[in-house]
Amino acid sequence: MDNKFPGKDISDEDIKSKFPLVAKKDPQHKSKFKIKNAEFGGSEIPVFAGPNMVESEKLIFDTANEVKKSGAKFLRGGAFKPLSFPYRSKKYTETRESGIEWLANVKKNTGIGIITEVMEDKYINLVSEVADIIQIGSRNMQNYPFITKIAKTGKPIMLKRHYGASLRDWLGAAEYILLEGNEKVILCERGVSVPHTHRQTSRFLLDLQVVPAAQEITHLPVVTDPSHATFWRKWVEPMSLASIASGVDGLMLEVHPKPEEAAVDPLQPIDFEEFNNLVKKMDSVAKALGKYVLSN
Ligand code: PEP
Ligand code: MN
Repeated sequence: MDNKFPGKDISDEDIKSKFPLVAKKDPQHKSKFKIKNAEFGGSEIPVFAGPNMVESEKLIFDTANEVKKSGAKFLRGGAFKPLSFPYRSKKYTETRESGIEWLANVKKNTGIGIITEVMEDKYINLVSEVADIIQIGSRNMQNYPFITKIAKTGKPIMLKRHYGASLRDWLGAAEYILLEGNEKVILCERGVSVPHTHRQTSRFLLDLQVVPAAQEITHLPVVTDPSHATFWRKWVEPMSLASIASGVDGLMLEVHPKPEEAAVDPLQPIDFEEFNNLVKKMDSVAKALGKYVLSN
């Protein structure tokens, strides 16, 4: 058959010529790698949790301690943020270098792994000194010179799918990273923009079908971010459980001590107790599939 899928987006020829490093060499091929004490690509499903934005030192210390207790392996949070609108009160201001310093302190004191985004060339070195995983945000997925520079740090990278990108384009972007010899790449589906079908219910639509589709083609781990996709905390639980069922290799979740007071996207984070309960449910679903979230 000429095409990999019933759809026409990716052909066997594309796999050979456009993303040979990202593509599986055989149907069983799956990348397995350790970052801190988490293993990606095996039966563990590591969780990244934390606030959207690194708002204050206290906020990230409290959150790191709580999410770690509940089973998260990594603290998420942006000190550098792709904020959709430029007008900000003090509360919305990125914490930038201070935020990175707080992340470094939280890592030293709690031992939790750090995943955080970099937005500009000049901060790549600073971010790579602290981050265990560098996040390339959806908006930068196709900034190829930028992602090539980040790849050169040799640090593990999580590449978020742009909300308008096809699977083909997402894998093409990942190929740029592997081409630099950097093989610790995690792909993150964070919701796609599909005007007229979902707009009345949420800002983005979590494309769960892309999880098995991506895994059909690539050996790289695939995770989802149900918080950004649903934009609404009430749907984070069902879409997280569905993500596990879809076969994800990890999950990113927004968690905040006082969700309604979050400086950015206050509709989407869940609180500590909701997170703790959700992790247990995710672990149950994972275990039914021969995987696990909680390593005991
Ligand atoms: C984020 O994870 O903080 C973020 C900005 O995500 P995205 O790039 O998916 O919008
Ligand atoms: Mn965000």
